This record gives sequence, structure tokens and C-alpha cells, in this order.
Amino acid sequence: MKKFILTEDALPRQWYNILPDLPAPLPPYLHPVTHEPLRPDDLAPLLPRTVIEQEFAQDRWIEIPEPVRDIYRMWRPTPLYRADRLEKALGTPAKIYFKYEGVSPAGSHKPNTAVPQVFYNSNEGVRRVTTETGAGQWGSALSFAGSLFGVGVTVYMVKASYHQKPYRRSLMHTWGAEVFASPSERTQAGRDVLAKDPDSPGSLGMAISEAVEDALAHDDTRFALGSAMNHVVLHQTVIGLEAQRQLEMAGDYPDVVIGCVGGGSNFAGLAFPFMADRLSGSRAATRFVAAEPAACPTLTRGVYGYDYPDTAGLGPLLPMRTVGHNFIPAPIHAGGLRFHGDAPTLCALHDKGHVEARAYQQNEVFAEAVRFARHEGFVIAPESAHALRGAVQEALAAKEAGEERTILFGLSGHGNFDLAAFDAYLAGRLEDLPLPQEQLDEALSELPATLRA
Ligand SMILES: *Cc1c(COP(=O)(O)O)cnc(C)c1O
Repeated sequence: MKKFILTEDALPRQWYNILPDLPAPLPPYLHPVTHEPLRPDDLAPLLPRTVIEQEFAQDRWIEIPEPVRDIYRMWRPTPLYRADRLEKALGTPAKIYFKYEGVSPAGSHKPNTAVPQVFYNSNEGVRRVTTETGAGQWGSALSFAGSLFGVGVTVYMVKASYHQKPYRRSLMHTWGAEVFASPSERTQAGRDVLAKDPDSPGSLGMAISEAVEDALAHDDTRFALGSAMNHVVLHQTVIGLEAQRQLEMAGDYPDVVIGCVGGGSNFAGLAFPFMADRLSGSRAATRFVAAEPAACPTLTRGVYGYDYPDTAGLGPLLPMRTVGHNFIPAPIHAGGLRFHGDAPTLCALHDKGHVEARAYQQNEVFAEAVRFARHEGFVIAPESAHALRGAVQEALAAKEAGEERTILFGLSGHGNFDLAAFDAYLAGRLEDLPLPQEQLDEALSELPATLRA
């Protein structure tokens, strides 16, 4: 295994903002009630001012504040590895590189945005942030960041995961956060769901509604989102900016960049600095592959339209590919990939043919995770294993074609809290469930508008 390490002074000083480089301007967000284009001020009750500015910023480079860089240095720059043992096992002429984000205190890429978001909130006098979490990676990242800045954190955790993934809950409690199973009795959005279905397992969309409602009801409280929005994607570009320097050290440039997609933030964070080269024409042939679960097939089977980020329709309408804000995906183990929509920037690039998408079933994904553990050592998150599956497919396609190919994939987190899922796979207890078109059609029939007239 070859490892490419950057020194601390190579830590990026700026994030890369892709908005000015998109082939066409991003369609505007819409106000959830009036459906008029959203004004930055509309977000003021929800997000701190600096984060709102970043959401709409047209500057290509945005300064990373020094207190944020100081915390990034706890685990950044993260290592880039060449998976040469896996290459050998596959018998492929392709080179496989991966950027490893599992070294952060919370175990994934999510602190890359949790830290600046809490920093800006703290700077602007916010006392508490609320959020949603599925499997708990985002909730734990925000709890970690909150503990560093002395900002309170309230997490609405999807009820099914709250009971299935007790250790991520323990992590959040250890960092001092309060955690509620969603849907809860604490909000109108939660009570409405429970009135209809007292046994609701919850969903990310419901948990977002609860966290938004809680933030709106308290003056000293704001909301923090873990993926999809422009400012989150912006913060995650530290991943790709570092990877560019590391591949230069290796004397390589990727032919294909691959990431798993839940809301799209780790994929975009790794891919967008390279995407800039494709869009400028200097590396026009580089391909980009988004890997998603077949159980929540946003890019491969969704519709490009306007949709709410949450079930109750409290958040702005986002121009994105979506399977519908009422869609409840099967309880797959890659809990972080169960969001119904994706980052508007990623969806716009996918729509213009700059990003390919593939959907994978759980068993093929876990088979790759196990093979990877046995050749490369790391036990990786089920989410990340979707990207790995995409990388292996590319490596095998290169072998078939008898050609060289340089593959870069994002390894978004470790799997140390997912061992129950590995147990289930190893015991042959994982199911690959079909997703009938009628189930998708039902959720899609409630879309407010499509961008494909
Ligand atoms: C949350 C999470 C994801 C999915 O979120 P994105 O915003 O799509 O990156 C992927 N991998 C891990 C390890 C996660 O925690």
C-alpha cells in the first residue's frame, strides 16, 4: 500500500466554490410557501449570515477562517492511498487511489462542514444548533463541533436508527448533545406524523422538519444541514483540493473520480476541484461517477424537479433530482445514503451529462467492503463501500478492455460503528429488496413542480 501524506502547511487556505463555473446558472431556490425565488433574508431565521452568504456566493475561492483551519489540523490533511493490494487481487492494469476521510474524530468527512458551520454560528452569537441525523454520522459530527465551540446541539435522529445504532447515540451524548428519536412529541411536525402513524420509523425528511421547526421557534437557535446545500458542498472541497496535490505527488491525474452519494456532499467535495478542470476544458475527458443505493435511487430513477428538503415542507424548494420528500426508503444499512434528494449543483451537472450515476444493492456493496478489508485492511462504512463498488467495476472494465485507467474514489468514513451490518452480511442475512416503480410513482406524484416541462 502506498500512502501520500501532505504536511500541515499544505492544508488548503480556501474552499472552492463551483457556482461561478457551472455550465449554466443554478435554477433559483424557491420560497416554500409563495414559490417565489428565495431571497437570502428568507433564510435568516434558519442559518447564520455568513453561511447564507456562502450559499449564494459567486466568488470562486472562499477563505477558510483560521480557527477552522486550526481544528481541521487535528486530522487534516487526510491521507491518500494507492490500493495496490486490491489492484493485484483484481488482476487489473488500473490504478486505484482512495482519499480516506475516516481519520476525523467523528469517523467521516462530515466534520469538514460541521466545524465551519458551528464556528459561524458561534461567531454570530447563536447559542444552540438543531439538526437531523439518520444513522448518526452527521449528528455526531455536529456534536463534536458543538463541544469545541461551546454551542449546544439538539439532534433529531431517525427513530429506526435511534434504536438500531445505539453507539452513535452514545458518541453524541459523550460530546454533550441532546438526542431525540424522530418523529417526536416535541414538535408539531413530529406530532402530526405520530397522530397518523404512532409506529412511524421516521425518515430524514421528517427529522429535518422537526429540527427546522425547533430552530424557527427559538431566537438563539439556528439549524444546520449536513449535506446537499451549496455551503456544505463548498466546505467539503478541502477533500478534493488536498487530493489534487497528493495525486501530483504521485505523478498522476484521475481518468475517473467516484464517490458515494447520499445528499452529495462527499462526492462533490472530492469531485468538484477536478470537475473545474473538466468544465474549463483542460481535462475534458475525466469522468465522474456517483454511486447510490438501489433502495434510494435519486439520480438513477428520480425526477429533476423542485422539491422540499423535508417532509413537512418547511425548507426551501430546491432544484434537484428527487424521489419525493415523502419517499421512505427501505432500512438499508447505508443509512447515510437515504436522503430523497441530492445537492442542486451535483444534479445540475448530472443533468448536463457531466456526472454518471450507478445504483447498487447491499449485498454487492458489502461483498466489496469485505474484500477491501481483507486486502487493504480498513473496515469501511457501508456508504463508502458504494464508491468502492463503483471503483472496482471501473477497474474490472479496464482489465476487460486491456487498458490503463487511473481511478480515484472517496472513502468517506470508517465502518467501526457498522459492525452489526457486517455481521448480518457475513451471516447471509442481508436482503436485496426490489423497489417497484409504483412505490416511486406514488412519492413522485406529490412533487410541487418539475424542471422538465
Ligand atoms: C453521511 C455520509 C455519507 C453520505 O452523505 P453525502 O452528503 O452524500 O456525502 C457518505 N458516507 C459517510 C461515511 C457518511 O457519514
